[in-house]
Amino acid sequence: MSTKLHIHKLAEDGAFLAHLNAKYEKLPPAEIIADALAQEWFPRPVVVTSFGAEAVVLLHMTSRAKADIPVIFIDTGKLFGETLRYRDRLQHVLGLEDVRTVGPRLSEIEQYDPMGLLNQESPEMCCNIRKTKVLARALTPFDSWINGRKRFQNNSRGSLRIIEFEQERMKLTPLANWSAQDLKDYAIKNALPLHPLVKQGYPSIGCFPCTSKVTHEDDARSGRWPGKSKTECGIHE
Ligand code: SF4
Repeated sequence: MSTKLHIHKLAEDGAFLAHLNAKYEKLPPAEIIADALAQEWFPRPVVVTSFGAEAVVLLHMTSRAKADIPVIFIDTGKLFGETLRYRDRLQHVLGLEDVRTVGPRLSEIEQYDPMGLLNQESPEMCCNIRKTKVLARALTPFDSWINGRKRFQNNSRGSLRIIEFEQERMKLTPLANWSAQDLKDYAIKNALPLHPLVKQGYPSIGCFPCTSKVTHEDDARSGRWPGKSKTECGIHE
């Protein structure tokens, strides 16, 4: 039986994922990551990051667990210059060996967003060509991925599961349980550099046309797509 088929069969068994989630709810994130990376049901793993406000914590943990783990970074063409420079800095500081910067296809930008204003007319379509499709292509060589979402970030993330099977891949969300304070404490303890825009009032950082300072203190992602009903870019189901 192929590895992919084996994982599919395991994940189809709801008890398998339920047992794992129950186990991981009791473990700190670094132990969750180490445990998953050692399992045969978590093959060909990759980390997906935005190099955003709290990305350094996940990148530090995963690179300590597996120094050469590949990292996918989507450059939408609409990012803050600070984010691109922060990627370069973290690559150096953390010793990230395999950062893969990927972006939208020029043919799709020319067809759907020739003026670069699609984010105003249809943010859904803009995210689709600049993020969702890009990630789908970039994930092709991998069977498992790790992401940095947290439950505290907003209501729609409140019920995140730590391990799930999504679109034929295992997906690990090891920081799901952590609070903003946990992340700060970890960054301070490990002397990790923060994204420069955090100090300027941006606790969540994406593309510059769709990111502003927080509008609700209790919602870290309230500065994303302000004034619109959109709360997620669509790369997570
Ligand atoms: S966050 Fe905004 S600019 Fe970035 S891809 Fe989505 S709609 Fe486009």
